[in-house]
Amino acid sequence: MARQDGLYSALLARGITRRDFLKFSAAMSAALALPASYAPRVAAAVAAAPRIPVIWLEGQDCAGNTEAFLRASHPTVAELVLDTLSVDYHETIMAAAGAQAEAAMRGTMSTYPNGYIAVVEGSVPVADGGVYCTIGGKAFSDTVIEVCRGALVTIAVGSCAFDGGLPGAAGGPTGAIGAGHAVPGAKVINLPGCPMNVQNLTATIVHFLTFKAWPATDAMGRPLFAYGQLIHDQCERRAHFERGEYVTAWGDEAARSGWCLYQMGCKGPETYANCPTARFNDGTSWPVKSGHGCVGCTMPNFWDQMSPFYRRLPTVGPFATDTTADQVGLGLVGGVTALTAVHAVGSYVRKRRSDADARAELAAVSAPVAPPMADSSARSDSSTEGRTDR
Ligand code: SF4
Repeated sequence: MARQDGLYSALLARGITRRDFLKFSAAMSAALALPASYAPRVAAAVAAAPRIPVIWLEGQDCAGNTEAFLRASHPTVAELVLDTLSVDYHETIMAAAGAQAEAAMRGTMSTYPNGYIAVVEGSVPVADGGVYCTIGGKAFSDTVIEVCRGALVTIAVGSCAFDGGLPGAAGGPTGAIGAGHAVPGAKVINLPGCPMNVQNLTATIVHFLTFKAWPATDAMGRPLFAYGQLIHDQCERRAHFERGEYVTAWGDEAARSGWCLYQMGCKGPETYANCPTARFNDGTSWPVKSGHGCVGCTMPNFWDQMSPFYRRLPTVGPFATDTTADQVGLGLVGGVTALTAVHAVGSYVRKRRSDADARAELAAVSAPVAPPMADSSARSDSSTEGRTDR
């Protein structure tokens, strides 16, 4: 049971024009990979939508996803859609504190059973009874279980809430895990990234408002509209990769010319995300565009599996463009890689590669190696639980 005072009226009250709203609807249709003809349907659904209460929990994290959520110096309709969701509880930004804050959370849970969205930011520490993160004298892990089990859906924002992130990396003492792992059986949608792109949060919610269903996800609970394609296949530097034009030192002529960052450690060939198209900061840029390689932050266990961040990948990973994140996650790309390696090698020898480094690179491509992915089977139970096909 969501609130009936209406999302569209809340947007109008915030100064959004009808024109802006229609532009937003068209942009959301594009973000969700829907045909342009869906824009009026998206607009009608969002215009009629009630305000959905949100409980935003924050555990072990840097608050980067809250920053992404709040980036409102130049508010867009997307930001205001999120702003008008009725965030009833958010430990970092709410004015209330202590018992008053806890009462707000409990009030939302009891008034809207199975009718609120639980957003989890940060990892959930479970070692030693969860003592490494307590709020109001209670283990964060207990609060996450209680809140997420009573929610319409749980959206885990950022890499820490996805699979433990940095606190869950090797050597971390807190037993940090992601929300989906912490609440088995709960309906969880994962929006990994460090931080997540707020456009993907908006689009996920707009999908629900439009179709009354959550977007289709991969086996790790990541929406396919945002995590269904390799960064490498969407990258504006890809033509340089194909021509063997690589940056080999920070600040060199190749860097100034915008060449490929593969040899500087870019993980784009093994990372699934829509960063090149969604971009950040009002669509201004994204890491590769600004000159830094992708670090693979949307992938499982990326702090361990994708580091060292500045070392070249052990394989170019010439995956076919229809290879899916699930295939990569399940380690099935070996066959695909073998099949496409022939093509890749053929392409390479036609390209301008004449120095010794280029020959060594070619040898590496000819010996495909399974991508450095974490075993996702431990999480697949909970992630597939929330799988929804439209
Ligand atoms: S390796 Fe990185 S910089 Fe080069 S094309 Fe792929 S994603 Fe872009």
